[in-house]
Amino acid sequence: MRIAMIGTGYVGLVSGACFSEFGTEVVCVDRDANKIERLNDGQIPIFEPGLEDLVARNESAGRLSFTTDMKAAVQGCDAVFIAVGTPSRRGDGHADLTYVYDAAREIAAAADPETVVVTKSTVPVGTGREVEQILQETAPDKRLQVASNPEFLREGSAIGDFMRPDRVIIGAETQRAQTVLRALYRPLYLIETPIIFTSLETSELTKYAANAFLATKITFINEIADLCEAVGADVHDVARGMGLDGRIGRKFLHAGPGYGGSCFPKDTLALTRTAQQAGSPTRIVETVVDVNDRRKSAMADKIIAHMGGDVAGKTVALLGVTFKPNTDDMRESPSLAVVPALQQAGARVRAHDPEGMQAAQELLSDVTWCQEPYEAMQGADALVILTEWNQFRNLNLSRIKETLNAPTVVDLRNIYDPTEMWEQGFHYTCIGRAFGR
Ligand code: NAD
Repeated sequence: MRIAMIGTGYVGLVSGACFSEFGTEVVCVDRDANKIERLNDGQIPIFEPGLEDLVARNESAGRLSFTTDMKAAVQGCDAVFIAVGTPSRRGDGHADLTYVYDAAREIAAAADPETVVVTKSTVPVGTGREVEQILQETAPDKRLQVASNPEFLREGSAIGDFMRPDRVIIGAETQRAQTVLRALYRPLYLIETPIIFTSLETSELTKYAANAFLATKITFINEIADLCEAVGADVHDVARGMGLDGRIGRKFLHAGPGYGGSCFPKDTLALTRTAQQAGSPTRIVETVVDVNDRRKSAMADKIIAHMGGDVAGKTVALLGVTFKPNTDDMRESPSLAVVPALQQAGARVRAHDPEGMQAAQELLSDVTWCQEPYEAMQGADALVILTEWNQFRNLNLSRIKETLNAPTVVDLRNIYDPTEMWEQGFHYTCIGRAFGR
């Protein structure tokens, strides 16, 4: 089989490389010529564990290629996947579908008459029908088919997630679309991955419902963490006690500075807009969006309070700026709210992140970027841990104390044990485990 993947970002590049690993011939297309040039030079434009090897292996096997030439790429394809961005539209929070619709028009003009056009981007309910309309209007003589196949991979573990997903959702209403997608996912069928065939609308909504539910779970435990601080309970044990209930589950019950990233913030917001427009508001998700937004700026207040209430002229050492570990993605990262708020309060920021510093430099100004954690701590009045990279989990406590001006630590990812930190003489705080200190 042969497919084209339109959009070579976090989703398109990983999905394209993984399909080629399954034995399919894949052409990845992007309109960003620089990205394609780098890929053709053997450079991977994003940081994703294992991706470099996967791409190199399949490229040299002749199953994976990269181009800006959409026309040539889509010819002879059984399916063309749209994996372009769907960011929040400025002003109203709806998903911006310009890139999806542009791609659909370009595909319709160039594709073979019976190609299946699959939306892999996260798109609001109704987009598949709109794409269908665009295909018909642009190429009335062809019998192009539409399908929806939302992607559930997580940055940082994207390859494993794609190769061994919990499930695959396919919104396909015609025989041909179902047959092509079933064939493409055949390797997963063999390992008994549940593959659910639905209508276009159900498939589109399933993706938003799943993301909104996960965002709700995170926000729920964050609020419980705040309550723990107020009443002297330990959120770590509360989450464990809750999560061992099979109906609840242990995942996504880690209290922290609020969710970020390229998906949850925009997808929760877009779902609320879709629901309002449909006259069926999702009040829980609306609250989640609001609570999470406030939480990110509240984190700066928490740091300032722990540093004595005034950070003017003080220096903060910040570890981790990406929205989570194992990615270089800075989109909607809590650091984008925390760093400017600290600077506004008069603090200087020295920061280190294993992979995110290049992207962060374009988004955060007046930060002193450091090559390793202890360099960031030099001359700083407090250490703040904002992303739980493995590199930050086992820092040398004596060295931290020697390097900082004062042994003040704000651990917004709960990666250190509070009792141990207090015993070691740190002025330490974290999320929901402060026991009233
Ligand atoms: P991205 O911004 O990293 O990549 C999108 C790419 O599409 C860019 O390289 C852009 O140049 C390219 N592009 C845009 N229009 C094009 C066109 N007409 N022709 C060719 N290329 C074009 O985006 P992403 O993070 O990969 O996300 C893509 C979609 O997948 C979004 O809808 C997102 O919500 C969804 N998604 C993302 C993740 C994730 O973890 N990033 C997970 C699941 C789903």
